[in-house]
Amino acid sequence: MRVIGVLGGMSWESTQSYYKAINEGVNHALGGFHSAPMVLVSVDFAEIEALQRQGNWQAAGALLAQAAKRIELAGAEGLLLATNTMHNVAPEIEAAIHIPLLHIADATGEKCQQDGVTRVGLLGTRFTMEQEFYKARLKGRFAIDVLTPKDDDRQAVHDIIFKELCHGQFNESSRQRYLDIIASLHRRGAQAVILGCTEIALLVDQRHTSVPLYDTTALHASKAVAWALGN
Ligand code: GLU
Repeated sequence: MRVIGVLGGMSWESTQSYYKAINEGVNHALGGFHSAPMVLVSVDFAEIEALQRQGNWQAAGALLAQAAKRIELAGAEGLLLATNTMHNVAPEIEAAIHIPLLHIADATGEKCQQDGVTRVGLLGTRFTMEQEFYKARLKGRFAIDVLTPKDDDRQAVHDIIFKELCHGQFNESSRQRYLDIIASLHRRGAQAVILGCTEIALLVDQRHTSVPLYDTTALHASKAVAWALGN
């Protein structure tokens, strides 16, 4: 089995989901006492969050590239960056290491494509919804058109991530707000909605709506398991 590297802590709330899902996936495939050989480096999210707010992606990229090098040195054979937003600096990270980065948008795009989904709604941080790095990858590699919520809804989605979900707070009113936004993306023509922030599935999941949801944390973890097992 290949050793999976996880660059986490963005936030640690969702890194827990990765750790659990990857181990469960390996155990499901191999049974017995099997679990996933992993190298986890977890950063201080306060530093990353401050750089995001300042728009200092270069410094954030350098910091994460250093962390990724430590993961490679510790023996990981492939890398997961356990956040959608910080894939904004995926090229800087890839340039610093010799092991493959398993990109979260590819894990998501592949599944959408398998399901014949060509028009999706995207929820995530403002950075993920508004910058090009994520939408352009879905469009360029998978021919998927991406719809994002209107401005005040984008702000609400973003604020709930940073003020609540990253602090382990899960409020019913916020869940309802997300569900309303998901319904409105569906009315605008989205066949499905991507939960494009690794904390969102802690608040909203498929039990809450009939609109198909793509949980990027679960898809990313599952891609890593398949890769580790050589599938
Ligand atoms: N975990 C989040 C994501 O998937 C947000 C935290 C961050 O800004 O990295 O985008």
